[in-house]
Amino acid sequence: MRITFIGTGGAIPDANRAPSALLVEDGDAKMLVDCGSGTLHRLLDYGVTHRDLTYILITHFHVDHSLDIPALFQAMAVDRPREKPITLIGPLGFYEFLKNLLKSLGLLKYLHGEKVQLLEIGPDATAEVINDTDNMKRVIELGSHVLSKPPFMITAANVKHNPESTAYRIVDSTGKTLAVSGDSGPCDGLVEISKKADLFVLECSLPDDYEMEMHMTPSTAAETVERANPKKVALTHFYPVWYERDLEADIAEAFGKRDVIIAEDGMSMEI
Ligand SMILES: [Zn+2]
Ligand SMILES: [Zn+2]
Repeated sequence: MRITFIGTGGAIPDANRAPSALLVEDGDAKMLVDCGSGTLHRLLDYGVTHRDLTYILITHFHVDHSLDIPALFQAMAVDRPREKPITLIGPLGFYEFLKNLLKSLGLLKYLHGEKVQLLEIGPDATAEVINDTDNMKRVIELGSHVLSKPPFMITAANVKHNPESTAYRIVDSTGKTLAVSGDSGPCDGLVEISKKADLFVLECSLPDDYEMEMHMTPSTAAETVERANPKKVALTHFYPVWYERDLEADIAEAFGKRDVIIAEDGMSMEI
């Protein structure tokens, strides 16, 4: 699969780092992991339009990870009908979150129902399929934290950030494995989901002197990586405070001999 970092920043606007978004491609399948504000416009720089997307996977509801989903619906409202179906996947509560958002923006009525599917994924999910009056299909995968969305197999784990926060392990058609932390502080769920992954995309929001339970710093990121032992690590979700520090030096000190990629917007790699 090909991975492209569309946005490697967080919730504080940064001229060099857009809010969170990662493009994952395997053949014709194009999946966004997170969709912060401006993502759909940024995607055009890489030749991908909103019509090309097949999946959007959301780690949690903070706006730096979710706010361009309404923009997608606004685009669908005024564009010609979609040809490719799109599946939106998020943690439990995703349906309520999106429904309320779209309702307040007057966008629910523009849904092209059969071309848009919404799935919730998580260890606590219960079995249910609802054809909503709003013409949005809700399918909750029953008691499942694993979802087969060809060519991808997606596994979810709760992580420590917001109550719904979820990290994902994504396996492609060739068996290669990508783990994505979303936002998270150190926790066992994150270690489990990223064990021996071919690439682990891990947040590293803040320097070590920011004591945060809900985000990583170089030291806590290095401890997590030590336990999970992935083949490659790419750090992302950097806050602007890093401009006042030496990001490379702090990461080198925390990670020692281990090679670590410091992700930047536009960086792309094959795994
Ligand atoms: Zn964030
Ligand atoms: Zn967050």
